[in-house]
Amino acid sequence: MFNSKSKKAEEFISHDEILKALKYGEDNKNNKDLVLEILKKAESLKGLNYMEVSVLLFACEAGEHSELREHFFSLARKIKEDIYGKRIVMFAPLYVSNYCINGCKYCGYHTGSGIKRKKLTQEQISAETKALAEMGHKRIAIEAGEDDKNCPIDYILECMKTVYNTKSGNGEIRRINVNIAATSVENYKKLKDAGIGTYILFQETYHKPTYEKYHPSGPKSDYDYHTTAHDRAMEAGIDDVGIGVLYGLYEYKYEVIATMLHILHLEDTFGIGPHTISVPRLRAAEGVDLNKYPYIVNDEQFKIIVAALRLAVPYTGMIISTREEQHFRDEIISLGISQASGGSCTGVGGYAESLYNPCKCKEDSTAQFQVSDERSQADVAKTLLKNGFIPSFCTACYREGRTGDRFMQLAKTGDISNCCLPNAMLTLSEYALDYGDDEFKELAFNVIKKERENIAEVKVRNKFDEYLELIKAGERDFRF
Ligand code: SAM
Repeated sequence: MFNSKSKKAEEFISHDEILKALKYGEDNKNNKDLVLEILKKAESLKGLNYMEVSVLLFACEAGEHSELREHFFSLARKIKEDIYGKRIVMFAPLYVSNYCINGCKYCGYHTGSGIKRKKLTQEQISAETKALAEMGHKRIAIEAGEDDKNCPIDYILECMKTVYNTKSGNGEIRRINVNIAATSVENYKKLKDAGIGTYILFQETYHKPTYEKYHPSGPKSDYDYHTTAHDRAMEAGIDDVGIGVLYGLYEYKYEVIATMLHILHLEDTFGIGPHTISVPRLRAAEGVDLNKYPYIVNDEQFKIIVAALRLAVPYTGMIISTREEQHFRDEIISLGISQASGGSCTGVGGYAESLYNPCKCKEDSTAQFQVSDERSQADVAKTLLKNGFIPSFCTACYREGRTGDRFMQLAKTGDISNCCLPNAMLTLSEYALDYGDDEFKELAFNVIKKERENIAEVKVRNKFDEYLELIKAGERDFRF
């Protein structure tokens, strides 16, 4: 049995190994044959190792290789399309408490920030859930600051129970992911029992001296405890875990290589890597001046990061949030993103308060950071459809017990066209009928008619038709 105390973070996030990979990348950035060989390997959907990823990062960054960069981006688009088709799974964050005892310098929640502290009551959680359900969301991520007194694990468990028990018309939340601070195996077991989808925790930065600089106080200042959190979550039986770097804190190539080492560690230890990788970029927040951060990642570098991860771990979901601007978000999605948030509010209690409109986070004194994409969920979903994507509200895998390696198996055998595609279309039809305006309904059902032909097995296609008719007749929640 895996023992969480067996490996220290610095053993698997080896600084020396990262430097070695970075040197190899730098030394080979002009080695066109090697770069092409790596791209060819990526095309076969086998994934890449961290040395290969390093070469791509350096080669793509080098200015004179714009042709190569285009090849690299188009390959990322192709891989994304081969594995995920046009589907984009939608979700929204639900901020339940912004009490926090950590000193994270980049975060609006840090101790000493002038932020208004707030924690939702269960009645308020229910109101927020209703608002989210009426926006059409089926999947949320519960977010909270770290404060064992004001926001203990039992409070999070209670919130989950309230969310799962709240309905509004046909609306309900069917999957709750949880993004809370690193905790104990015992607490992860409680989250598992309460029906957690994915346990998400961002590393922020893998570079230890930078981590220590930006996390000067509070429990989160313990680099080792934070970095081994996913191990404890997996040890507790949560087999869908999500990782991520907060891009802008340290040099991005270092972070991408370290991410690869983290994935390798989880694969070696548990036989399965992370379910998702998030790619948050640093945003302005209460008391956070972006001019003081020397490693801010520009759009071009950000595209390289997303595309490199898509090539390196083709079967791992990738998540983008509303930290990114509308137009750029759409561009990034085509490079490899499989999940996107919509209509998000980073304030505590923001959904019910803003009466289901895109939240006014800029004026919200409880917000963690500023969102960039302020469109409503309905606008985000409509734009996705107009741009050729299929907004999906699917939560089937988790509810059918297809988590961890069972999900990966499904992804790797390509059986997604008989499972994810019909599920995406069934949930899109529910969304269109329950929340879409006439234009949305027309766009959605045109796409559904077209994509139906791409369901590989006749048997599944027939079942799909049957379910679709039942949905049109008012029934809900069919899945493959
Ligand atoms: N308290 C939990 C923890 O310690 O991980 C939950 C985290 S918080 C609700 C979610 C994430 O927001 C953080 O992990 C961090 O990466 C991100 N975040 C914090 N400040 C940010 C900022 N100024 N801009 C963008 N993202 C930020």
